[in-house]
Amino acid sequence: MILKFKFFNFFLIPIFLVNAQSNLIDTSFRSPIGIPLNLSGDFGELRSNHFHTGLDIKTNGKTNYKMYAIQDGFVSRINISHWGYGKAIYVDHPNGYTSVYAHLSRFPEKIEKVIREYQYQKQNESVTLLLDSSKIPVAKSEVIAYSGNTGSSSGPHLHFEIRETKSEKPVNPLLFNFEVPDHRSPLIRNIKFYPLDGTTINNKCQPSSFKAIKNNGVFILDQVSKITFSGPFGVGVDVVDYFDNSSNKCGVYSIKMYLDNQLKFSQKMDKLDFSTNRDINIHKDYIEYHNKRRHFHKSFIHYNNKLEIYDTTLGNGVVHINDSNEHEIKYVIKDFAGNKSVAKVKVILNQNNQICSAVTSKEWLKEDAENTIQKEGFKISLPSNALYDSVAFNFQWKNEKTLKIMNKNIPLREKFILSMKLGTQMDSLFDKAFIAEINSKNRVINRKGEYKEGWVSSQIKSFGNYQLMVDTKPPIIQQLYFSKEEAVSKKLTFKITDNLSGLQHYNVWIDDVWVLSNYSFRNNRLIVPFDKYCPINNGTHSCRVEAIDERNNISELKFEFTKK
Ligand SMILES: [Zn+2]
Repeated sequence: MILKFKFFNFFLIPIFLVNAQSNLIDTSFRSPIGIPLNLSGDFGELRSNHFHTGLDIKTNGKTNYKMYAIQDGFVSRINISHWGYGKAIYVDHPNGYTSVYAHLSRFPEKIEKVIREYQYQKQNESVTLLLDSSKIPVAKSEVIAYSGNTGSSSGPHLHFEIRETKSEKPVNPLLFNFEVPDHRSPLIRNIKFYPLDGTTINNKCQPSSFKAIKNNGVFILDQVSKITFSGPFGVGVDVVDYFDNSSNKCGVYSIKMYLDNQLKFSQKMDKLDFSTNRDINIHKDYIEYHNKRRHFHKSFIHYNNKLEIYDTTLGNGVVHINDSNEHEIKYVIKDFAGNKSVAKVKVILNQNNQICSAVTSKEWLKEDAENTIQKEGFKISLPSNALYDSVAFNFQWKNEKTLKIMNKNIPLREKFILSMKLGTQMDSLFDKAFIAEINSKNRVINRKGEYKEGWVSSQIKSFGNYQLMVDTKPPIIQQLYFSKEEAVSKKLTFKITDNLSGLQHYNVWIDDVWVLSNYSFRNNRLIVPFDKYCPINNGTHSCRVEAIDERNNISELKFEFTKK
């Protein structure tokens, strides 16, 4: 059977056999979807705070495509959340891998029944259900879900992952022979040089980035013939890749950096690890990414970087050259299909006496020690290893209320505790106070908080602007498309909004029985559909809706309705 399949492939699409990497893990998986695979995101591409751990498969801007089990197995987990993966299903397969489908709209009845039973048991729409092999076995090609746009998704698509079942480490799905046409080589956009240990690049103490252009098939620096350095330096490359017929910027598969044809650095996107994935913030050029959306991969490895995507037998990638000869830095960058781009840059030592002085400061946040600092109105406590590097401590009260703490361009590995003092005039409101992050668009993001002895404290994962806020107003519940005179036949619809801390819980009871309702943070609608899962008899019923915000302010709406 397997032989036949390969034979078949050979005649239809020989190009994939030619291009396919020799390291394929298993070729028995079918596609999770019934349309050709077009990707808007691939495995290992740079994102905020993580490498992308799967494939983003386009669904023509629509939802409700059938999702197929890629192999026999059983449903091991179903997750329903307003954030992250949204509605997601996990299927364990006998070969030791788990497939994950995220941002789904719904499930077939066999699966929907199981998840609803659990939602009713928990009286909550948002649940995580773990299942053993006996509960929902599935066969290869069985429909297990329908595609959607739920959770943190900015448009309809399928986020598809393959993980090692035991370790839960996500593996590059392209290693399982899914066919994604790709004949375009990676686009090298910029190359950046980082002076290390107080040295210079082109007589400057700061890292310098140079635009790359393609010349006779090789990327070179635009208008710059060579780079000078005065000591050890690192190199980084801003590179993206495109699949055929797509304008989506994706990530590359492998990056190799050579000094005079000797391999100095190598990274490859075969497997990631959720426990170290945040170290992307020291792998990529954090500031370039967050301020300019440039995708620099640094080709020198920080000693606090625990990612396992590098060939560490090569050392840390830092370039040391002591002679005065001209040398060549070369990049060889490939996408998964094997399309290759090469960049070459000449470098030469420039012995100058310039001294790049380090930052001076009275107060430091140390990378390898616990840091506790208390100032007027606030205190912070950073665990050891919360930072990648020691940094000078600074803060500023931007007005009476808003505290700017450090600089958002400094990445954090771990959360720190921020405590803000609650003014005595607000003491009675202690359980209504929370720490709000004020983002660059001046939007308030609730970072929660616990009150203790005059202080509100919360775990914070990025530096920036913070303010103590008080929420005493309950959410507002409005009925929509319904008046008492009008009969209801298919559903009840409500609009629920909250002014500050955000909606946390919602409940609907019909005739004093809890019923499942679906809330969307996109349009603030809460819907109770009267479908086969929630049959409501014709006639008059009582309804009670409850909405609770994150600071425990509660509102309630009671009414009667007639279903016809
Ligand atoms: Zn995704």
